[in-house]
Amino acid sequence: MAGPDVTRTTCPYCGVGCGVLAARQEDGTVGVAGDPDHPANFGRLCSKGSALAETLSLEERLLTPRLGGTETDWQTALSAVADGFSRIIAEHGPDSVALYGSGQLLTEDYYVANKFMKGFIGTANIDTNSRLCMASSVAGHKRAFGSDSVPGCYEDLEQADLVVLVGSNFAWCHPVLFQRLLAAKEKRGTRLVVVDPRRTATAEAADMHLPIHPGSDVALFNGLFAFLLENDACDEAYVSAHTEGLAEALAAVGDLPMPEIAQQTGVDPLRLRQFYRLFAEVERTVTIYSQGVNQSSAGTDKVNAIINCHLLTGRIGREGMGPFSITGQPNAMGGREVGGLANQLAAHMEIENDTHRDTVSRFWDAPALAARPGLKAVDLFRAVGEGEIKAVWIMATNPAASLPEAGKVADALRRCELVIVSDVTATTRTAALADILLPARGWGEKDGTVTNSERRISRQRAFLKAPGAAKPDWWSISRVAQYMGFAGFDYTSAADIFREHAALSAFENDGTRDFDIGALARLDDSGYDALTPVQWPVPAENPVGEKRMFSNGRFFTESARAQFVPTPVRDPASAISASFPLVLNTGRIRDQWHTMTRTGKSARLSAHISEPFLEIHPDDAQAEKLFPADIACVESVRGKVLARVHVTDRQKPGNIFVPMHWTAPFSDCAEADRLVAGNVDPLSGQPELKHTPVRISKYKAAWYGFLLSRGKPDLAPIDYWAIARTTAGWRAEIAHKEMPEATDTFVRNLFGCDDVDEDELLSYRDIATGSLRFALVRNGILDGIFMMSGEPVAAARTWLVDRIGQPVGADARFRILAGQAGADQPDPGAIVCSCFGIGVNQIAGEAFDGACTVDAIGDRLNAGTNCGSCRAEIVRILENVNVKKAV
Ligand code: SF4
Repeated sequence: MAGPDVTRTTCPYCGVGCGVLAARQEDGTVGVAGDPDHPANFGRLCSKGSALAETLSLEERLLTPRLGGTETDWQTALSAVADGFSRIIAEHGPDSVALYGSGQLLTEDYYVANKFMKGFIGTANIDTNSRLCMASSVAGHKRAFGSDSVPGCYEDLEQADLVVLVGSNFAWCHPVLFQRLLAAKEKRGTRLVVVDPRRTATAEAADMHLPIHPGSDVALFNGLFAFLLENDACDEAYVSAHTEGLAEALAAVGDLPMPEIAQQTGVDPLRLRQFYRLFAEVERTVTIYSQGVNQSSAGTDKVNAIINCHLLTGRIGREGMGPFSITGQPNAMGGREVGGLANQLAAHMEIENDTHRDTVSRFWDAPALAARPGLKAVDLFRAVGEGEIKAVWIMATNPAASLPEAGKVADALRRCELVIVSDVTATTRTAALADILLPARGWGEKDGTVTNSERRISRQRAFLKAPGAAKPDWWSISRVAQYMGFAGFDYTSAADIFREHAALSAFENDGTRDFDIGALARLDDSGYDALTPVQWPVPAENPVGEKRMFSNGRFFTESARAQFVPTPVRDPASAISASFPLVLNTGRIRDQWHTMTRTGKSARLSAHISEPFLEIHPDDAQAEKLFPADIACVESVRGKVLARVHVTDRQKPGNIFVPMHWTAPFSDCAEADRLVAGNVDPLSGQPELKHTPVRISKYKAAWYGFLLSRGKPDLAPIDYWAIARTTAGWRAEIAHKEMPEATDTFVRNLFGCDDVDEDELLSYRDIATGSLRFALVRNGILDGIFMMSGEPVAAARTWLVDRIGQPVGADARFRILAGQAGADQPDPGAIVCSCFGIGVNQIAGEAFDGACTVDAIGDRLNAGTNCGSCRAEIVRILENVNVKKAV
């Protein structure tokens, strides 16, 4: 892809930070491809990145400011924000207001938000959804290195001989980096160890899987630490020259015999020993960690337990080795750079450091710089609920659905005096609770920078005209600041802000702080526009940036030595009990992002997994008399959700998994974060989203339904429902505990039309099963299908999805009503390869026909040959087929 209409930009989803080429076509559509020159992805994109163009529609976009639900102009809306903030601050002080941002904000938006709150409002009550993502890594880095610095780079994964992935479903959550890793494994034989309670797609590609008990990571790495010392794997020269605190860390580890570690982690002692030996022997080792480590009440200790092992072996700051925190969000790192967390100042400076406060205060000419750390996300919304915070401005995130105790967060916002929401849509649970709604620019419309997990700053460039009255977030904050009488907010562009941000990073730095991008403060507008991806630090004297940090063995602690940190083992905050005997783990799936506000627009992405589910081990399912495709109720002390049952031995007994994506408007009954307690890590404030005691029971449905319709169905009164896009409309999975009073009227309502002629609504009752089938055929075109049964509906769903909007002859009508594909048009099955729309049945069919490898499947069906995100699932299907063949 090349040409004048091609814009180089960056993917807005995960922390890999892939470069994207976006091309405006003559017909107004947009084409998207991976940027071959971007060092994060070298042209690759995963399924989500490849489908970016499908998420750009203006459907459900917020295009105009709204005040009290009524459309208004920007000046009125922002004056109301400024007046509301000013009045509340005058009455209750600066700590009575707050701002909650997002790792989806661009660095420039984040910078201005932080300056506004900490420098001029005078409160550090500004936090971000990145608190849910990597706050424990930040706290762990600071304890060990004296700074929040990721030591390595992506190349290290390709130069390592051993990669240990801890609490990371890399294959699904960071697919492009996973493909880079697999390519390196193919080339140099890199060994891959996955530490995860679940046998994920990543674990299935590994040489060794350690299915630890949830929350036992510290015990695992403390055991490794002791093993390395006992087995002469300590790099004594490095430890003595560049570290301190070894004795204290070792004392906290204590005496850990292998059977004790095995008991604490639930891993077979033989396998533990194999892993420890491997780690001890392989110098080029990278340990990657993600949400399974961070989202824990002991997240910071987990991070330090990992870093301790790297410091002990001196494996840091060198090619092919190091601890590596991979972030979930596209700009979690950029947010950290500007002080987007409540306990940080800007440019990696500290609120509680008088010198830093003085530096920032003078640089900003800020009259009221916050004097102490503010409230972290969970506490911030508790303070909203308790009435201590009376005004909150929420940007680009959906806390009423995504924070722990999400129901309480929604209640708190309902009671809050002034709720301002800046977003691209008004359909989120949080936006629905706003007093003032501000239309923000979305991906393709906004302009600025983001920083990925390897400290690489890239430009996110606009290539679309901003729709309606949508404005950049930095613009709306700056205007409010000006209305409130604050100086220093007269920015005219993102470039203005970036230069100031870069200048602050270098201001009185002199090598004392890790974050220095002073070389970029000199960029003029065209230089900013043309900025190519660069890894910080980028000080004035080194404008090309740094691949690795700490190569010289000097750290940002007072002694310039890295710190071993004592990490005593602690249990998760909430223990299972007789009433709540199972552990709930929440997480992501391959093709959706956060609460689906963007990825949910793509029919292609929605075809992979189209409803909320819970994964449960066969033993636990049997104990509750749950069968595949049943609906289960998952209940904690905080609430309950409903989800489809997937029975699988990939889940450990005693543990279940529910994805975190489904929330209104895609489903109203499956918000996993409603169940989760607000237990947080004491240092990082990151909530424990991976360990919630729950119980399960079978949801006793009177009927189950499967619906396809052209229009978006209204399913609100139904107990269990989940909707997803299809190419021609919508699909829905439904279950309810009572039969409808008048089925015919009910079905017409589902199809959203009461003007249906008798002969347009075909119906069929299966005498044997009592199931009902309806098809809406108008002018010879299939407009809708509804299937209703006392058992979970069995139908060739993907085949039926493809029939909607198509002409339907008399001969095909019975097949459609029966939900059975014919030999001439077989059902592809649930979509596995989103790029080519290849389903599980097609892959299994080819496997039965002799295609035994992923490459052979690729040759026959193309599946897995583009982004590669589905290759691990293809392996799983091939293995299933082999098992069946053997049986
Ligand atoms: Fe986007 Fe996928 Fe790259 Fe992540 S791996 S940045 S989601 S294309």
